[in-house]
Amino acid sequence: MARYDNNLVVIGGGSAGLIAAYIAATVKAKVTLVEQHRMGGDCLNTGCVPSKSLISAARVAHQMRTADRFGLGAVEPQVHFDKVMERVQGAIDTIAPKDSMERYRSLGVDCVAGTGRLVDAHHVAVGDQELTTRSIVLATGAGPFVPPVPGLSDARPLTSDNLWELRELPKRLLVMGGGPIGCELAQSFARLGAQVTLIDLEARLLPREDADVGVFLLEVFRREGVDVRLNHRAVRVEAVGADGAGRLVAETLEGPATLEFDRILVAVGRRPSTVGLGLEALGITTAPSGVIQVDDYLRTACPNVFACGDAIGPYQFTHMASHQAWFAAVNALFGWARKFKVNYRVVPWATYTDPEVARVGLSEEDARRDGIQVEVTRYGFDDVDRAIAEGSNEGWVKVLTKPGSDRILGATIVGSHAGELLTEYVLAMTHGLGLKQIMGTIHVYPTLAEAAKLAAGSWRKAHAPEHLLRWVGWLHALRR
Ligand SMILES: Cc1cc2nc3c(=O)[nH]c(=O)nc-3n(C[C@H](O)[C@H](O)[C@H](O)COP(=O)(O)OP(=O)(O)OC[C@H]3O[C@@H](n4cnc5c(N)ncnc54)[C@H](O)[C@@H]3O)c2cc1C
Repeated sequence: MARYDNNLVVIGGGSAGLIAAYIAATVKAKVTLVEQHRMGGDCLNTGCVPSKSLISAARVAHQMRTADRFGLGAVEPQVHFDKVMERVQGAIDTIAPKDSMERYRSLGVDCVAGTGRLVDAHHVAVGDQELTTRSIVLATGAGPFVPPVPGLSDARPLTSDNLWELRELPKRLLVMGGGPIGCELAQSFARLGAQVTLIDLEARLLPREDADVGVFLLEVFRREGVDVRLNHRAVRVEAVGADGAGRLVAETLEGPATLEFDRILVAVGRRPSTVGLGLEALGITTAPSGVIQVDDYLRTACPNVFACGDAIGPYQFTHMASHQAWFAAVNALFGWARKFKVNYRVVPWATYTDPEVARVGLSEEDARRDGIQVEVTRYGFDDVDRAIAEGSNEGWVKVLTKPGSDRILGATIVGSHAGELLTEYVLAMTHGLGLKQIMGTIHVYPTLAEAAKLAAGSWRKAHAPEHLLRWVGWLHALRR
């Protein structure tokens, strides 16, 4: 049998690669992790961490501006944008040691800085070095997609990659893209004082969610002064100055529209990073979207090469990257004895607008599209005591159940802390608990989490055994 220096080489040290390498080291495999740029990948350096840190500063600015809702004097915040961005960097720096090469070396992972390239199924080149390995995990992630709109590249577009270097707040910011990243950033920049215009070619914001979510968010954004332009297709960018300012011409349902901007931020999707990786030589295929094609075991067309994270989709989230990493690493190391199919049965996510939008499982529109019968129970935060007390009574919990059963097929929460509140449904769906069990669980009063119990109560009431209750009522009458 051929011998190798490593059991596993992992290419890419982001959310997926770090977990794959960690799992391998934990089970005493000899593992080498190759990272070409910054350990922690997008999530730490250009994604979740900086965006959530920016959102938190923007929220404070918004609270100051709207403090009169609480009987306090509202003030226009003095935004020191450079300091806001330094704080964002500070959050990254604080977390960075957890993802560092030093830490991973201490956990038993060999770390190599450089660009990894597949030489053949058992050799990975990193500069002059060649690593030999029995198996490989590709975890190279994705990068922002900048569409080929004429003139756009001349405007030095901001993307989630370079945005964090900005130290001056653009006066007029044009955001392209009404998905999660575009929405989170558009609202944050508007709250920090930029005049934000958001365009999207779809007819609503967050088009993957139910229409009621998009309608609600549109209302919130317009109320906060974000100029949302839907059904706008970017045609060209022109008159670009040295500072990146210019104007965008868009095609709309009413004809062409021209939008002036000082900076433009592109958030229209992310493309897997596979260029120069050497996939072709091994016969590893990619889909038209650019994702590396894998089977149910996250194995590529080359049987000892596995892949996970944003490089394979279909869900581009940190928690999904690490979820997949377990399957990729375990199948790569132990697949000869036992293989595990990746499990996408219960997939949650959240968009950190304010209010937040969080979902697990089916939406109403998914159910309709797939011809799945569902019963919908909706409960508003305007009837949740804690939400009223906090002044965060906008939004709702929507639960989809199987008709005639309390089995949860999906839940969407729109509201303050929706991402946190969703976990109750994620747990319930993962472990087969239904609305009756949620109702039978003591929830601390007063909490936002009570919304789940109240929604379950609402479902229960709609399913009350009327016949039995009539009979019990008659029995009570007899006993009076
Ligand atoms: C603005 C923004 C906000 C986000 N917010 C959230 C959020 O709130 N919640 C959430 O769950 N997700 C969020 N995401 C998505 C999340 O960041 C990604 O899903 C996650 O980082 C994917 O991890 P990954 O390991 O697959 O890829 P990455 O994190 O991109 O890591 C890939 C790594 O591979 C390295 N690499 C690539 N090619 C090579 C090579 N040939 N050799 C060596 N190294 C290589 C790269 O340098 C990179 O470090 C956000 C993303 C963005 C952009």
